[in-house]
Amino acid sequence: MDFNFTEEQSMLRDMVRKFVDKEVKPVAQQIDKEHNVGLIQDILKKAAPLGLLGIPFPEKYGGAGMGEMGYCVLLEELSHGCASTSVTIGAHIGLAGMSIFLGGNETQKEKYLKPLATGEKIGAYALTEPGAGSDAANLQLTAKEDGDHFVLNGTKLWITNGDIADTVVVYGLTNPELKARGGITAFIVETTTPGFSANRIEDKMGLRGSATAELVFQDLRVPKENVLGQVGMGFKIAMETLDESRLSLAAATIGSAKELITMSVDFAKKRVAFNQPIVHFQAIQFMIADMAAEVFQMESIVYRTAWMYDQGNKIPREGAICKLFCSEALDRIVDKAVQIHGGNGFMGEHPVERFYRDSRVNRIFEGTSEVQRMVIAEDVLKKGSY
Ligand SMILES: Cc1cc2nc3c(=O)[nH]c(=O)nc-3n(C[C@H](O)[C@H](O)[C@H](O)COP(=O)(O)OP(=O)(O)OC[C@H]3O[C@@H](n4cnc5c(N)ncnc54)[C@H](O)[C@@H]3O)c2cc1C
Repeated sequence: MDFNFTEEQSMLRDMVRKFVDKEVKPVAQQIDKEHNVGLIQDILKKAAPLGLLGIPFPEKYGGAGMGEMGYCVLLEELSHGCASTSVTIGAHIGLAGMSIFLGGNETQKEKYLKPLATGEKIGAYALTEPGAGSDAANLQLTAKEDGDHFVLNGTKLWITNGDIADTVVVYGLTNPELKARGGITAFIVETTTPGFSANRIEDKMGLRGSATAELVFQDLRVPKENVLGQVGMGFKIAMETLDESRLSLAAATIGSAKELITMSVDFAKKRVAFNQPIVHFQAIQFMIADMAAEVFQMESIVYRTAWMYDQGNKIPREGAICKLFCSEALDRIVDKAVQIHGGNGFMGEHPVERFYRDSRVNRIFEGTSEVQRMVIAEDVLKKGSY
């Protein structure tokens, strides 16, 4: 069952599906087992000439002009194959590129968004710090004005693409007293700038092929023309970027969920117990039915919200609802998929085991489930009704 896609969106879906079958699925297990970021970088090099690294952005910035709907289609399809690849591309487009698209001026978009959209450069988004996760406004990284530069000092933690990026959007404190109310500023930082260093964090439960890094900024000088938007606008840019990115993250969970249903049905048809394929047991069929019912809900809310976003609506509540519902639904689905696979689902050679580990982080990054509930409640309470 497909959403009512335009012809262009359907063509994109078919093209990405073929790309994933040919270039991503065959190496997904190897990426995971070897923590092989290099294989993902090879995939990025193949995705770039197809225009996949700039799907949502206008053509004048090197993108494909396919908006949020197109971007959700891309992430859904990528996630059929490999969550590490999908997250790498998601951080590049939906976090780094989107921050510049939403907050940047024309010169910045020309200089920094275009090379990201064409895949010439890779991007990262650095908000989280050791003491600022859910409490994202509690940043300690300082940005002090010095002539025509700002000088950055501090540490960012768990930054996707942090050590493979050329361009990092960094959020820092320009006024410690104001914090989220005008004290945070976003900067575009080139990672070749003296004072930048990145240390990869290898030991993770999942997403083992996605580069996650600690970033250290030591007396790093950023020219003032690299301030995104205006001084003090950083928190607004960070949050508006997350509104969009949470939706695309939810789209990614749909691809994983559909792939898990396919794997489970295939397995249940082949696996024999009590002299018959286990697919004949109602207990198995009910699990498959519940998985399908959740996927239908996930698709319905994600593509409805993507359509709303493309119509120019703000989606803080809807993006948070999509992320909350879809990340939790995926965990229920992947749990059933492992159950249907029995012991095989627990063994490292089976992709379902990788999906199980990779899925868990969706309830944590880009705001935990608790943070999504806070965002939703705040919006509902502000309006006083649904
Ligand atoms: C693999 C990975 C990749 C990441 N990539 C990036 C990236 O590219 N860029 C980036 O900036 N960040 C990134 N992050 C960071 C991520 O966004 C944070 O981990 C996330 O926002 C949660 O913050 P925390 O881990 O500090 O959890 P904490 O804030 O320490 O939360 C711990 C627990 O307390 C709960 N909690 C906290 N406050 C409240 C409250 N007020 N009410 C109720 N419960 C609360 C949380 O929900 C959670 O259950 C990444 C993280 C991971 C794991």
